[in-house]
Amino acid sequence: MEEITINRIFLILRKFFGFFIPGGLVFIASLVCVHQNFLDPWLPQIEKLLPYFILGVGLLLGWRFHRSRLAFVILILMLSERALYYFGPGGLISTENEKIIFHSIALLLPINMALFYLVKERGLFNFAGLFRFLFILVQPLILYFLLRDNPDIFNYLNHKFVDLPLLDKFNVPQAVLFLYTGIFLLFFIGTLFSTKPVLRGFFWSLAAIAAALHAVNTGSGATIYFSTAGLIIILSVIETAYAMAYHDELTGLPARRSLNTTMLTLGRRYTIAMLDIDFFKKFNDRYGHDVGDQVLCMVASHIRRVGGGGKPFRYGGEEFTIVFPGKSKSDVILYLENLRQSIAGAQFGLRGKNRPKKTPKKRTRKKNPKTVSVTVSIGAAEPGRNLSKTAEVIKAADQALYRAKKKGRNCVIA
Ligand code: GH3
Ligand code: MG
Ligand code: MG
Repeated sequence: MEEITINRIFLILRKFFGFFIPGGLVFIASLVCVHQNFLDPWLPQIEKLLPYFILGVGLLLGWRFHRSRLAFVILILMLSERALYYFGPGGLISTENEKIIFHSIALLLPINMALFYLVKERGLFNFAGLFRFLFILVQPLILYFLLRDNPDIFNYLNHKFVDLPLLDKFNVPQAVLFLYTGIFLLFFIGTLFSTKPVLRGFFWSLAAIAAALHAVNTGSGATIYFSTAGLIIILSVIETAYAMAYHDELTGLPARRSLNTTMLTLGRRYTIAMLDIDFFKKFNDRYGHDVGDQVLCMVASHIRRVGGGGKPFRYGGEEFTIVFPGKSKSDVILYLENLRQSIAGAQFGLRGKNRPKKTPKKRTRKKNPKTVSVTVSIGAAEPGRNLSKTAEVIKAADQALYRAKKKGRNCVIA
């Protein structure tokens, strides 16, 4: 019980700090740098080069990693930055033209961030990419001429919904401020339900955009904040690539590559358990591969809760590995036995058998979903006199697993 509480606290703390890494940290660092004037000596160079550098890296990564949406977001950020830099206020908003440019950009940025988060990945150098590129260019032009020729729109835009002196301190009208807050909240709520690095990236990037628009009044800082917003998006692409390489997509467990990294960090005492689902080939033949996949996920969720400090991995196929750092075989045997029993005793409820690949809008769930059950065999080993290398311990755990299969399956051999 106590261990479950500690695990839960640990998970909450990890989620909390994970929310700030890396976007939040980069954003806070840029706030500190601008406020403390750390970057002032390099500001002329930064303003000249950094936006192009970020844009170049963003486009390159977006193209190579097939993340065109992120490349487009960086393009939007840097076009906005350059437009403000060359034609915008660069200090106090004084002329009518500056006002129009600033307001067009302030209004379009959050809407486009939300749009480009939602649209599907369609590639960069093709017809869809060209269409999106033109869409990005045309919007500010239309809005610019609309605002220029119809100054009345400003009256609507500047309508005060609430009388709060604090809101007057912002450069943008209340309507735009509410729009920002709404999209901010949507991204924030999204991060509570999903660990996708891109979602966190968009959230922190929008925070940096808000800081940039606020800093337009002071002249410097806007370029740094816009570049920060672009950098955060770039980092989220790199994080996504890492997550894809080190995590198994189906079960969400760390993958074989993560296991290899973890093995390098193990001390002298540890136990490795290999787990394999029994007769899974037959199971697939009987219920279909789709149902097999669902069961793999459900078995993985049991393995995740093994306890005893066990770190789970998907080794490959229907085989899993659990590493217990600092624990001997006798320390963990009970956890493994409990895990085996919990899987054997579970009735896995299934989603409809011939369900379509895309989730239909109207769900036609069966009232009594069919349930299935599986068993697993587990073999465990620890380092000893003849087993010093981790690869040898894994091999020994595999041999123990083989013995568990031979013994009749649904058992633990350590
Ligand atoms: P045993 O009790 O000896 O382990 O029998 P088994 O049938 O489980 O053993 P075997 O290793 O021969 O078969 C493993 C099967 O697991 C083969 C494959 O159909 C299935 N499998 C492997 N990866 C996946 C996957 O990602 N999804 C699904 N649905 N099935 C998988
Ligand atoms: Mg197998
Ligand atoms: Mg098997």
